[in-house]
Amino acid sequence: MRHRTRLIVLGRQGAGKGTQCARLAACLDVPHISTGDLFRAEAAAATELGRRAQTYLDAGSLVPDELVLELVAKCLGGPGARAKGYLLDGFPRTLAQGQALFEVLGRGAAHVAVELHVPTSVVLPRLAARRVCRQCGATSSAGPGDDEIGQCASCGGEVARRTDDTDEAIRQRLADYERQSGPLLEWLDGLGILLRVDGVGAPDIVHRRLLDAVRARVPLDDQVASGARADEAPDDLAGAG
Ligand code: AMP
Repeated sequence: MRHRTRLIVLGRQGAGKGTQCARLAACLDVPHISTGDLFRAEAAAATELGRRAQTYLDAGSLVPDELVLELVAKCLGGPGARAKGYLLDGFPRTLAQGQALFEVLGRGAAHVAVELHVPTSVVLPRLAARRVCRQCGATSSAGPGDDEIGQCASCGGEVARRTDDTDEAIRQRLADYERQSGPLLEWLDGLGILLRVDGVGAPDIVHRRLLDAVRARVPLDDQVASGARADEAPDDLAGAG
């Protein structure tokens, strides 16, 4: 039996989305498609797409839809997503991106959209403390009084803030989330696929909540009703913005 689970996970930056999505995707055996990670990889590899996105990434502002759709189309058209479905993390982020996704893939674009909800008062200090290893990419949290630059516990590489985790960029990204994702969340709710999951708590407990919420909506052996359209369409996504 082929599993074709299609999920969208939303949440403000610092909600623990990246970690939870990686775990959830592994558990459900679907490709984890994180547009933030993909953009950072493109930028690090200095591809043309990465170079065009770099200024936005550094400023912590949203990359224009045209580039985002180009990136997502590449992934959704790949063999993993076609065979198994996907967990979209960080996309869609705006109403226009959501509409483009559903326009191209039809109703089967997502069984469910989960908003991992953590209040701003909790995510702000988390983001300020977030550190990433420049060598292996592991994420850690700086304690009070720790230096800005540290050493990675896994590989010994240099650990620092992400270039888009400056105080100003963090404020901008949180404001962007409220402004851009509000209409998207309302729209997804109107489609009847939005679920809100409490993201405050120990990672294992949040994981269990997410898994239970998703399993209640998506039987693991479910097939997507409009699978044919979803198979054909991803290549067109780049032209939909
Ligand atoms: P993230 O790791 O999800 O916080 O994303 C890091 C950065 O990638 C964001 O600040 C944006 O510059 C860019 N990005 C990721 N996903 C999107 C998206 N769906 N739309 C626009 N920009 C995005």
